[in-house]
Amino acid sequence: MKKRPRPKVAFFDFTDCEGCQLQFANMGRTFLELTKLVKIVNFREIMSERGQDYDIAIVEGSISTDNDIKRIKEIREKAKILVAFGSCATIAGVNAIKNRSPLEVAKKTVYGDKANTINTINAMPLDKVVKVDYYILNCPPYIPEIIAVLKSILMGKPYPLPNYAVCVECKMNENVCRYEKDEECMGPVTRAGCNSWCINNGNRCYGCRGLVENPAANGHKEILLKYGLKLEDILQHFTLYNDSAGEKYDKEFK
Ligand code: SF4
Ligand code: SF4
Ligand code: SF4
Repeated sequence: MKKRPRPKVAFFDFTDCEGCQLQFANMGRTFLELTKLVKIVNFREIMSERGQDYDIAIVEGSISTDNDIKRIKEIREKAKILVAFGSCATIAGVNAIKNRSPLEVAKKTVYGDKANTINTINAMPLDKVVKVDYYILNCPPYIPEIIAVLKSILMGKPYPLPNYAVCVECKMNENVCRYEKDEECMGPVTRAGCNSWCINNGNRCYGCRGLVENPAANGHKEILLKYGLKLEDILQHFTLYNDSAGEKYDKEFK
């Protein structure tokens, strides 16, 4: 029987730290197994080939310049499937911190006297500019979820994102709640799918997957009150990953 050709995969990055792509290299043997199913033609972090003929584009990073807009549209035109990869690409991630200030103020703060020479715009997730077919959340992405999404792509199936909070996974993992340790945790309003990765490892949730669709803001407020915390204590944590989620949470609360 004639073997089906392997789909060609290319990786691209925009405004980011390239930590998401590193997760592919961190897969070890699983990554080698993956290369039996797909042909990687462009992956700057691990190979020198720069193929421009691809079926699947896996794109990391936020859109934050006019040139980024032009480039992501070109990638979209060539790719049959476009995957937004990581928090920067899916919710604008840490790059959205600059959106909290007027653009000129942010530029002046970072670049000083050279601010006028810098071409930059507010940070945006990819789907503000182009259609995205699959989302892989997290900063950096959670390897079991990367594999689950890739399986869905290769089987031609959708990958529905979980629409419940990290707390659900955290409870199933029988963790002691971080609020019991006098810490603020974003788990009650953050979209699940990472298997409460940070809490399992002794940390709290920082909200890197963005808000669940209908955040239980009132439930979270009750938790804050119970532990003597204020809204401001929580909102500042949203500025780390997703400025717009912080604003949405603010509205849900008031
Ligand atoms: S999502 Fe996190 S790991 Fe990925 S590029 Fe952005 S900052 Fe880096
Ligand atoms: S608030 Fe955080 S630590 Fe507590 S149950 Fe939810 S996810 Fe777990
Ligand atoms: S626990 Fe929270 S911060 Fe950690 S990976 Fe999951 S969503 Fe991201």
